[in-house]
Amino acid sequence: GQRGKSSLPHARERTLIAVKPDGVQRRLIGQIIQRFEQRGFKLVGMKMLQVSVSEMNAFTMSVCNSSVTVDVSVVKVSEDLLSQHYSELRAKPFYPSLLYYMTSGPVVVMVWEGHNVVQTSRTMVGTTNPTEAQPGTVRGDFSTHVSRNVVHASDSLEGAKREIQLWFQGQELLNWDCCDQKSISEV
Ligand code: UDP
Repeated sequence: GQRGKSSLPHARERTLIAVKPDGVQRRLIGQIIQRFEQRGFKLVGMKMLQVSVSEMNAFTMSVCNSSVTVDVSVVKVSEDLLSQHYSELRAKPFYPSLLYYMTSGPVVVMVWEGHNVVQTSRTMVGTTNPTEAQPGTVRGDFSTHVSRNVVHASDSLEGAKREIQLWFQGQELLNWDCCDQKSISEV
C-alpha cells in the first residue's frame, strides 16, 4: 500500500553540522555529537580541520574597536572554502570578523542523516542569536553571543547539499546500515 511511502524521500536526508572553533576550544564536541546520536540520526561523515588564513584574501577587520589587517596571501575568493560556505553573508558588516573567528582554530565538520534532519537539526541548534535561543538547544545551552554560537547547521535542503559538497569528497561519506534503523524510522 501507500503507507510509509510519503516519508521515503526524507529518510536519507542529510545535513552539514559543524562544531565551530569556540565549540572545539570549549570541549563541546562530544556533547554535540551525543545530541544528534541520541535523537536517532546517523553519522555518515566527520573530520577535523582548520581553514588557514593564508587561503583567504587580506581583509581589514575591527576587533575590540581596533583595526587589524590580516596577512595577504592571495588565493581567489571563489576558491576559498569559507567564502563559499558563507557566500550569502559577504556584504554583511560582521563578515570579516566571522572569517577571522572561523579560521581561529580547528572545526569539526559532520554529515548527519535521517528523517527531516535539516529542519530538526535547526530546531536542535536554536536561533542564530543565542540571546533568543531556547534552553535545551545547543546555542541556548552553551552560548550567549551571536559571534560565538558554537555550532553550524545547514538551513535548507539545497543549502545542505551545497555545503556537504563543499566540505566533503564523495568517498568521505559512508553509506552504512545502523542496526537500530527499523526502530528509528519506518523506512
Ligand atoms: N553572525 C555574526 N553576527 C551576526 C549574525 C551572524 O557573527 O549578527 C555569524 C554567526 O556565527 C552565525 C553566522 O554568522 O552563525 C552565519 O549567519 P547565519 O545568518 O547564516 O546564521 P546561522 O545559519 O548560522 O544560524
